Amino acid sequence: MRDVSLGAMAESDDTNLSAESSGADRDLFDKVVNLSKRRGIVFPSAEIYGGFRSTYDYGPVGVLMLRNVKEAWWRSMVQMRTDVVGLDAAILSPPAVWEASGHLANFSDPLVDCRNCGARHRLDKLDDPVVCPTCDARGQFTEPRQFNLMFQTHAGPVQGAGHEVYLRPETAQGMFINFANVLYTSRKKPPFGIAQIGKSFRNEITPGNFVFRTREFEQMELEFFVPPAEAQRWYEYWCDARLNWYLDHGIAPEKLRLRAHDADELSHYSSDTSDVEFLFPWGWDELEGIANRGDYDLTQHAAHSGEKLEYYDQANNERYVPHVIEPAAGATRTMMAFLMAAYDEELVNDDIRHVLRLHHRIAPYKVAVLPLSKKAELVGPCHDLFEMLAARWMVDYDETQAIGKRYRRQDEIGTPYCVTFDFDSLEDHAVTVRDRDSMEQVRLPIAELVDWLGERLT
Ligand code: ATP
Repeated sequence: MRDVSLGAMAESDDTNLSAESSGADRDLFDKVVNLSKRRGIVFPSAEIYGGFRSTYDYGPVGVLMLRNVKEAWWRSMVQMRTDVVGLDAAILSPPAVWEASGHLANFSDPLVDCRNCGARHRLDKLDDPVVCPTCDARGQFTEPRQFNLMFQTHAGPVQGAGHEVYLRPETAQGMFINFANVLYTSRKKPPFGIAQIGKSFRNEITPGNFVFRTREFEQMELEFFVPPAEAQRWYEYWCDARLNWYLDHGIAPEKLRLRAHDADELSHYSSDTSDVEFLFPWGWDELEGIANRGDYDLTQHAAHSGEKLEYYDQANNERYVPHVIEPAAGATRTMMAFLMAAYDEELVNDDIRHVLRLHHRIAPYKVAVLPLSKKAELVGPCHDLFEMLAARWMVDYDETQAIGKRYRRQDEIGTPYCVTFDFDSLEDHAVTVRDRDSMEQVRLPIAELVDWLGERLT
């Protein structure tokens, strides 16, 4: 059953922009998708077998960028805080977890099929609930069916009752079911948080728009446990902090906004939810949701597991179930937003220069080492230079083609600095450093290079 429906959905995947996007935006979208393929950022998965649409592989450059997105999140959410600890929970989990969380009963989207063209759509995402966006037919939809988004599989060689397991559709439940373990081993007390980055899986009805919505993706989630009376204050705190994280990492303010959910959008357990939204080529859309989830999650797991999931506040001799504030972001979706926000073109000497103006922390490589020519007398010292810099940063090394072409290639993958070693370098022990954004070049003694770069690559 699942294979059949997956196949049908793959056919109807919307990997391009919706019709109402403007030409300029469509252009940006296509350019970023093409650049991603051309420069080893993101490849369509299983391409040699015709592709498996809406599934993507991260290439040699993309894997670095995705790691940097996750590292930047971890740095500000875990490394720089005394009140958050990390976790790496299992992807496979038994039905009991999803029964307690409500996912088995409720984690579904309304699905409709168009009788005219056979396309399948998510009813709640349609601009007009009676018009098929694929063929424009009106009133041809089947009755909506609730489609559970969780991928089910079987543990062990025997299939059947008692052997079902689920691939997690979010990382959050790992934090809730480990609440007591973390509380006792980390000696934290509310307000404190548990953070996790990892893969999640959802059998999306309409994946598409490149890596914006895929069936396999990565999330970066924090569950922040607070005394109930402090929940509102922490909710506001995390809304601000999370919006600022994107601004601090170089996305322009006019491309970001915080949108509070209307009452009819809220889940039954959430008193407040806001989305950080990015201006994607098709319009404003979600990057991250920040929700005040009350005590729903811990109460549910306590009731289903029979374990006490609460905090004993010794100072006030009071026992309570902490409330949860959850900032939940997508790593892969955020990477796409960084790509869209950073893409730039400018005319240089009658030629168009494509440049990714990425924040240094997000840029895949921080430095490129380029010998002016492939001659052995330059290549040898360049390898030493590479080793010196690679001990500190991710460094690319490239000796192919003319130097101008190599600069342009580094611009396209957002490398902040290129270091060129030429024949003079053999004599003066200095190199030329070129800045990605201004294209300005300075000559620097090799002995000063690490400090010079260190001051700039914070
Ligand atoms: P949407 O409304 O876009 O389906 P959601 O509200 O269901 O998203 P959450 O459950 O809040 O999403 O997940 C937190 C974050 O995980 C989202 O803001 C998004 O960045 C990311 N995310 C969710 N689903 C996907 C997906 N299918 N592909 C890529 N990223 C996703």
